[in-house]
Amino acid sequence: MNIAQAHDLLEQYKPEEVHYFYDPTTKLKAIIVIHSTALGPATGGTRFFSYPQWELALEDALRLAQAMSYKNALAELPFGGGKAVILGDPKRDKHPKLLRAYARLIHQFNGRFTTGEDVGIGPEDLREMMQETRFLAGAQGITHDLSQVTAHGVLHGLRAAFQSVLGSDAPQGRTIAVQGAGKVGYHLIRLLTEAGARVTVSDVDARALERVRREFGAQVVEPNAIYALECDAFAPCALGGIINDQTIPLLNCKIVAGSANNQLKEPRHGDRLHEFDILYAPDYVINAGGLIAGVQDLIGGSLERALKDTEKIYDRLLKIFEISRREGLAPHRVADRIAEERLCKRQ
Ligand code: NAD
Repeated sequence: MNIAQAHDLLEQYKPEEVHYFYDPTTKLKAIIVIHSTALGPATGGTRFFSYPQWELALEDALRLAQAMSYKNALAELPFGGGKAVILGDPKRDKHPKLLRAYARLIHQFNGRFTTGEDVGIGPEDLREMMQETRFLAGAQGITHDLSQVTAHGVLHGLRAAFQSVLGSDAPQGRTIAVQGAGKVGYHLIRLLTEAGARVTVSDVDARALERVRREFGAQVVEPNAIYALECDAFAPCALGGIINDQTIPLLNCKIVAGSANNQLKEPRHGDRLHEFDILYAPDYVINAGGLIAGVQDLIGGSLERALKDTEKIYDRLLKIFEISRREGLAPHRVADRIAEERLCKRQ
């Protein structure tokens, strides 16, 4: 990428600030993007990842920071969007001194950018970083498991989708195909079975599958069989990009609503779901529970408050579905429009 291409990227995402840091002592290489502070100080996780080229790291940070602005705006949180990436292989390059150096950088922002977990950064890393800064979400410990709050939000999002499509929000008797029985998937399957729904699940990890089969009686299918299952709702809780040209024709559900980030391979795939009369709950609206809990943690709140705030995902989605129906516009387009309006109003 030459400098003109880098400028094109900045023009596309329009961040307020982009910082590149290098620390010769610890070999820390990090990019911090503050996308928007229109609604409050920027917040977003730190990803520690081995990018093949630094340009890809920059693009990832820009894209993820913008997504955080939209997610915060939709969740009605008094925060803006930001994101950080540390360039390197966490297995090889992550060590306490580097994390401490990174935490000192975060501290210099004095709360204008706060951060937390993402791929490659876990709770034990945040504990190390806490020695240097308090500007960390999820480090105070209102919960050891943000994913249970995310699952709580997905359950309420599914209920809103049932209400919108089936005329009743009760999960009881509904059939749900869950892709991924990891941290969020496990809790979602627990909540759904407790509420009387029938769950079928796929995963590539046999132990994760065995656990939900044994504990909740979930039916298990092969990874590729999950798309074509006849069910009320398909809940992607594993990978991004799984709603695409190959999978859409296979779908045999009325609703797509799950926790996975970036479920639509491209925005046009959300339009196709809409054409096929499959209701899509925009991912960054339905999966905001972990973010809401992280913010409560940051401001010294409580888990109870986080769970209550997360339940508002129900009304938020009902409103999006209603506008979508009224205007004939796919729900992901409606969500983006609401987020952009909120961000512009405050600029
Ligand atoms: P996780 O890594 O704990 O679980 C993902 C599961 O998906 C794993 O069990 C993995 O084996 C499985 N998987 C991988 N490939 C698969 C495939 N081809 N078919 C079926 N299963 C497959 O991750 P998580 O924290 O549960 O997050 C799940 C998704 O939700 C991710 O996209 C994540 O970005 C998103 N998300 C998570 C949170 C959170 O609070 N953890 C918050 C917002 C969004």
